[in-house]
Parts: sequence; structure tokens; C-alpha cells
Amino acid sequence: MRKVLLVLVLLVIVVPIVVVVARSARPVINLTTEVSTIGQATPIGVRVTDPRGIRSASATVEQNGASYAVWQVAQASKAKEASWNFTAGVRTTPQLKDGKAKLIVEATSNDLLHKSARVEREVSVVTQPPTVSVDSEQHYIYIGMADLATFSVSGAYTAAGVRVGDQSFRAWPMPGGKPGLFSLYAFAWNMPQTTIPVVFATNGAGNDVTSPLTVVFPKKEQPHYTVHQLQISDQFMQKVVGELDPNGTGDMVARFVKINSEMRKANNKTLAELRFKTADHFLFSQPFQRQSHSAAEATFADLRHYIYQGKEIDQQVHLGYDLAVTQHVGVEASNDGRVVWAAPLGIYGNCIVVDHGYGLQTIYGHMSHFDVHEGDMVKRGQVMGQSGMTGMAGGDHIHFAMQLDGVQIDPKEWWDPHWIQDHVARRVELPGFHP
Ligand SMILES: [Zn+2]
Repeated sequence: MRKVLLVLVLLVIVVPIVVVVARSARPVINLTTEVSTIGQATPIGVRVTDPRGIRSASATVEQNGASYAVWQVAQASKAKEASWNFTAGVRTTPQLKDGKAKLIVEATSNDLLHKSARVEREVSVVTQPPTVSVDSEQHYIYIGMADLATFSVSGAYTAAGVRVGDQSFRAWPMPGGKPGLFSLYAFAWNMPQTTIPVVFATNGAGNDVTSPLTVVFPKKEQPHYTVHQLQISDQFMQKVVGELDPNGTGDMVARFVKINSEMRKANNKTLAELRFKTADHFLFSQPFQRQSHSAAEATFADLRHYIYQGKEIDQQVHLGYDLAVTQHVGVEASNDGRVVWAAPLGIYGNCIVVDHGYGLQTIYGHMSHFDVHEGDMVKRGQVMGQSGMTGMAGGDHIHFAMQLDGVQIDPKEWWDPHWIQDHVARRVELPGFHP
């Protein structure tokens, strides 16, 4: 009996304490901006969640044993969640010096226990923007094609390269241990012709510097893209919809157009993201080669009007070459490289992507069969499988395309040894290359 009483007494006293402690978790702090560098006035976002409200929140920067307050919340709040944006940097904390530092964010619960939480980030203080110095060459730019620029960046930087409009092309260290950097870059087929490519460098602290390339757009030699009317038969529409939207229902034309537009866009995004699966050196030493004995049934950036029963139902741009030989011909690797994709890919059907280094990749679509796997090294001319008509193909052919840092380009200049010599091998070391 006394034991039971003791247990009851313990329950009465202990349980409320346990409940109070258990209910009182700590505030949760999230940095909503990725901060690795602090510069002049670097924007920082913080979100704090706490069911009991937020009594206080603050940020400090610690460097060389000193601690500097950079932000704090003015008053306590009952809100369960709050977000703030503030800046930290030399403008408001002139004592900061170039070098390592620590950003600390703390928050305290708005209840009796005042539980607090803290997050820390190692950061670099960078007070000076980087500087870029660009080669003095004239760059001959052809719409839809590639070029190479050399440059150097001094000072601390987190990213550099060539920027064309809203597209960025990475900088790589010059091969062969030479000083400086280079970028292979593209002027996309649909980029406004008034766009001037620039070399950029950023230190991640809000300091972004650019310097324009000297560019020439030779008027006469710019490509003229062709326009085609594609008659869509019921048979082709059923083949495409049956293969790429097998469980869909509803209007055939709407489903076909959705595949042609939305699936195409998603597939191109998947291709573009393969830019990160690239070697940091050239994997090839010879010009690219075009599929043997092939006839081009379509070329790069053809504009296609899709006509069904006399009515236009869609418009798309074809970003490659359709190369036809015979049915189930061996699909040859255009150059030495590494297979980074060998799997079905929507409108491209069974698709192979081969990386050749520095973000340069070749794409082979509509195959019936693969002889290689992701990760395999392939040699120029090596048969990687057989052609077919998987995906959005009405007949057996190879859809051959090329991309540079995720931007699809016209492959034809890479088939030309003189172009590679003039634009690439003359500017960076391309071991073993002889035009
Ligand atoms: Zn094609």
C-alpha cells in the first residue's frame, strides 16, 4: 500500500516536470541563403520556427577571437515561425579582415525555459572583388555554335567563366599546367544577336565582375535555319502517343502536342543536367566524325510546323541532325569519350550521351539496342548499339546532337579539323591533335 502511494506521489510530482521538459524543444534555425563568403554587404536569410514563439534571435561574426554583432530581432514574438533578411559585411563591420571567420545565428524560445539554439557557418571574408583579364583576340561568333576564350582571374573567386545572356559556361584551368583559365562557350541558336559574351568572375560575396570579349559576327557566314512542314499521319501520332503516353486518356492530338512540347522540354533539361558529368580534361584528340555513309534528313535548328489534317497543331525547333543509313545500322561514337547516359529518354527514345570533357557531349537518339553502359569508355567509331525508331521517330535514323555545358549546338564545326585547330587547339593544348 505504501509503495502504491509512493508511486502516486512520484507521478504527481515528476510527470508535470517531464511534460514541461518534453514539450520544450529547442527553436529550429535555418539559413535560407547559402553563405560561404562575406563581402561588402552580403545578404543573409534566416528562418526560425518554434511553437512557443521566438523571444530573441541574433547573428554575430567571429574573427580572430573578436565577436561582432551584425543583426538582432528587435522584440519577442508569439509567432511560431518568422523569416528575416539582413546583410553582413565590411560596410557595417569595418573591423573584418580578409580571411576565415565564423557566422553564428542564435535564437531563444519565448517560454519560461528560454531554450536556445545556434547554427555556425565557416565563412571567408573577401573584401576585394576579383579582377578578370581577357585575351585580346577577336572572337568570330556563329549563331548556334561554339568558341573558346582564354582569360585570367586574380583575387579570391568562387565561380568564373563565360556568360552569354543568361547562360554560363564554366572556366577550367589551362591544360598542360599553363597559367590562366579557359572556357568553351556557345552562342545559342536562339540567343538575341545583340548579346555580347562576357568573361565573369564572382567571389560569392555579391562581388561580380565582367569583362566583354571582342566579338565579330561575320554576316555572310551566319547559318540560315530552314523551315519545314511536317505532315502528321494518324499512324505516326498513334505510334508516338502509344509509346510515350501508354496510360494516358483523352484527345490524341492534345496528348501528342503535350509529348512534343512538355516532354521535349523535360528531356532537354535532363540532357542539360548531364553537363555536371564531365571530365576536367579533353578525352579526345581527333576531329569528331559523322556517322559513316549517312544522309542528313534534318539539320540543326530546323523550325518544324506540325500539320495534322490540314491544321497546324504545334511548332518546335529540331536541335540536331537526323542521320539515316539503313535499318539497325551500328551507331558509331563520334569521338573518344565516356558514356554518361544509356537509357530511354522520352522523345529521344533509347538514348546515349557521350562526354568528351570540358562540358562537351554528343547525343545519339532513337536507338533500338545498346551495346554499352553508363560509365563505359568508348573509342571514336566504336559501335555503341543499333539505330532504330524508338521515341518520337517515324523511321529508322540516328538523332545526332551535341551540347556544350548543357546548351545544344550545331555539331558541324566539330566535324571540321580546321575549325578545331583555329578555335580550340591554337588556344589551348589539345594533346595529340593534328589538323
Ligand atoms: Zn531528330
